[in-house]
Amino acid sequence: MSDLGHPGFGLDDLPLRDDLRGQAPYGAPQLTVRAVLNTNENPYPPSQRLAEAIGRAVAEAATGINRYPDRDAVALRQALADYLGHGLDAANVWAANGSNEVLQQILQAFGGPGRTAVGFEPSYSMHPIIARGTATRWVSVPRTARFEVDVDDAVVAVKEHQPAVVFLTSPNNPTGTALPLETVEAVAAASPGVVVVDEAYAEFRREGTPSALTLLPDHPNVIVSRTMSKAFALAGARLGYLAAHPAVVDALQLVRLPYHLSAVTQAVARTALEYADELLGAVDALRAERDALVEWLRAHGFEVADSDANFVLFGRFPDRSAVFADLLERGVLIREVGPPEWLRVTVGTPEEMAVFRDALLAATGRA
Ligand SMILES: *Cc1c(COP(=O)(O)O)cnc(C)c1O
Repeated sequence: MSDLGHPGFGLDDLPLRDDLRGQAPYGAPQLTVRAVLNTNENPYPPSQRLAEAIGRAVAEAATGINRYPDRDAVALRQALADYLGHGLDAANVWAANGSNEVLQQILQAFGGPGRTAVGFEPSYSMHPIIARGTATRWVSVPRTARFEVDVDDAVVAVKEHQPAVVFLTSPNNPTGTALPLETVEAVAAASPGVVVVDEAYAEFRREGTPSALTLLPDHPNVIVSRTMSKAFALAGARLGYLAAHPAVVDALQLVRLPYHLSAVTQAVARTALEYADELLGAVDALRAERDALVEWLRAHGFEVADSDANFVLFGRFPDRSAVFADLLERGVLIREVGPPEWLRVTVGTPEEMAVFRDALLAATGRA
């Protein structure tokens, strides 16, 4: 880009907030290679039928696009509540442009200067970044060697730091670990503030793994956040949402920008929800592919974290950067994230996973 006649002028010359100086933005690489397995996207594009239905819905929305959209997105929130079940309705649900925006709104309403958010890491890198952006103090509590949240550690941390917001990610990114409900309940009971259970990967969990949605009736400080980016294969549309007590939704309306969800976004998301059965069928295929991948990795001597998500954390590699780079040279993009010596791979199509397996054997001298 042109420097507009001011060569040498940079970030340091701007009146940037002190707490943002020297920080790095979120930046997963976006590369065109044979197997893109680095951001936990759903590898299956919408069916022709769904793509055409989305096209019709957008065309319909276009006929009224001179007007602002429904500011409260009531029809969409009702459709999301119907999808979730558990006796929820539109008053319990809030939606925004990706669950990252939902999380940001939660921190705008409940966090901020002088307040603290607690997370259990390794976990989703955006939680501390969104905390920083809203000037909320971030406290990181380590998970156990098996990537679990120790209940006693968690309760001690909550009592000590008195956080306005606690983040529990289940299934956790990047480890795939789901939390027992007893852990969420213990943290909710000890917390003076809200407890956000980030369930971005809920639809991928294994049989018998519970969702924190069941806790909502008895725990008004619990917020369950979800997204259409992963299971619903809608990452490009940007639609995230949460389920909580209606008072939480009232609080978020104080900070949301008016008309934040465009008429196009609302129409696209509602159409995708009408195709939930079809989309969740592909989720079943991905869960089976995930379980097969875990088994294959273990059979080849890799260490693998149990996964309830659409990705797998595996290791260990004294030099994981070298393995990452070798895979990339072979056209396979995965993610160098989480604990040292581990790598994360998103579950793709059977064809992509075959490419990944061959590349990994070659990269680690097992071929
Ligand atoms: C992918 C992901 C999200 C989803 O973000 P969107 O903004 O909805 O695309 C949220 N939380 C976690 C833990 C994730 O991995």
